[in-house]
Amino acid sequence: MDSTKRCAACAMELRDEATRCPHCRAVQPGAVMHRGGEGRKLLGVCLALSRHFGLDVALVRVAFVILLAVFGGTPLMVYLLLWAFTPPSAIGKAPIQRVVDWMVGPAEGSGEPKVERRV
Ligand SMILES: [Zn+2]
Repeated sequence: MDSTKRCAACAMELRDEATRCPHCRAVQPGAVMHRGGEGRKLLGVCLALSRHFGLDVALVRVAFVILLAVFGGTPLMVYLLLWAFTPPSAIGKAPIQRVVDWMVGPAEGSGEPKVERRV
C-alpha cells in the first residue's frame, strides 16, 4: 500500500499514515496516535510520540532516557500508560481497550453496538 492523501491545511501530498504535515506542520484530522510502522524499538511509544508531535524519533528517545535518568521510575510509568492507551496500529485497539472489552464480556467484540432491549 503506497497511498497518499492531501494535507487538510496546505493541500500538499502526504503519506497516508502521516499524522502531521511535514510542510506546514498541521495535524491531520482523524489522525490517530498509534505505535505501528517502521523504526519501532521497544513498545513503539517513542515512535508514536515523535510522529504525533512531528519530532525526530531519536530526539524523543534521547529525551526519554534523560527523563529516566533524572526522575527515575516516573517516566517509566508514563511510558507504560502511553503504551496502554495507544493502539498498535491505526486500525488496532489499545491494550487498555482490549482489557475493557475482555471485562465487558465476549458478547461484545463482533463490532456491533449493544442494543438494550426495552420491555
Ligand atoms: Zn500542510
